[in-house]
Amino acid sequence: MPAEKVYVGIGSNLGDPVSTVRGAIELLAKISKSKLVNHSSLYQSEPLGDVCQDDYVNAVAALESSLQPGALLLELLAIEKTYHRQRDPALRWGPRTLDLDIILYGNQLINDSDLTIPHREMHNRLFVLKPLFEISGEMSIPGLGSLRSLIDNAPELKINLINL
Ligand code: ADP
Ligand code: MG
Repeated sequence: MPAEKVYVGIGSNLGDPVSTVRGAIELLAKISKSKLVNHSSLYQSEPLGDVCQDDYVNAVAALESSLQPGALLLELLAIEKTYHRQRDPALRWGPRTLDLDIILYGNQLINDSDLTIPHREMHNRLFVLKPLFEISGEMSIPGLGSLRSLIDNAPELKINLINL
């Protein structure tokens, strides 16, 4: 199967989100039959909804992958799992959130029970659209139109580039 360009959304807001997002990018680079081609800067964004929680750190990575979408999703879930429980400095096991989503898989439109591509919320999430624009530039999103128009029409959100 020829490789497809895949965009993966990365988000974390618990523990040490910056190091979690960086670690996740390193693990994305090790996925079989896939190559990490690029990743965005890290962004800090305010959480959606009314739940009181810390800001998120977000990024988007670009892969070339010849894994089928379902197989790639399993790889992402496995990486999420490695971060959900990690030893903290007090040697206790605590939760860690890491969310990895397939944003785009080539030009494919997928509507399975466990996988929707393009990601069903991408147009509402500036924390996905902005880092995606950073690495891809203007592009056409299958079924949704131009990335620029999605950014112009997305709900407002406080999001800042993290200068590291
Ligand atoms: P969120 O939708 O906020 O990312 P979760 O990460 O808890 O919430 O959802 C995980 C489930 O979402 C996965 O088990 C997967 O079956 C489903 N899913 C549907 N579409 C996608 C996608 N494009 N990328 C990742 N997971 C997806
Ligand atoms: Mg997810």
